[in-house]
Amino acid sequence: MSSCISPALIRQYLYCPAAAYYTATGQAEPPTERMRKGKEAQREAVEAVAKALGAEQVVHAPRLSGAGICGVVDALLFIRGRPAPLEVKLSKPGRAVPLHHKAQAAAYALAAQAQYGKASPGAYIYYAETGEVKAIPLTRDLAELVKHTAAQIRRMMAGWTPDPRYHPAKCPSCWYRKICGFTQTKVEKI
Ligand code: SF4
Repeated sequence: MSSCISPALIRQYLYCPAAAYYTATGQAEPPTERMRKGKEAQREAVEAVAKALGAEQVVHAPRLSGAGICGVVDALLFIRGRPAPLEVKLSKPGRAVPLHHKAQAAAYALAAQAQYGKASPGAYIYYAETGEVKAIPLTRDLAELVKHTAAQIRRMMAGWTPDPRYHPAKCPSCWYRKICGFTQTKVEKI
């Protein structure tokens, strides 16, 4: 039987497969103080977003499981009887919501609709830094991306090693850079 894959790992794999590899092999970055404080403050934000979206029910921090996906989402809203996960991020979205954020949200929506047996219209992401709420419709393309990524992660857990490349916009500020074997073939200029 195949194991269920967490939406957070799907997000991480799409950002950098090597980072997901480290997490999956027990070398995950520990939560920072900022992350811990953010989680403590998020209940209030969730209630405000749920009200603004007209949700009739809010479930805080439920574990969702279904369609080969499992994980704890910040909240599950019910809007016109349909489940819509809500993810809180401490960052800002940038000019467009990054694909790895969309895929994480879609993964929660896939799990929610399998668990509750009701079609999910998609998920929402609340970006605390800017106060924006972004709707992420559960499109066929996003659902396919989630399934494909989950399959790649299962391969990785079964022994396959991904082959990411050095990325100038990601690696210099990456927590894993000191241990990252995926960037060590790069010849440093002196
Ligand atoms: S250092 Fe670069 S390749 Fe390695 S995990 Fe970080 S982002 Fe990925």
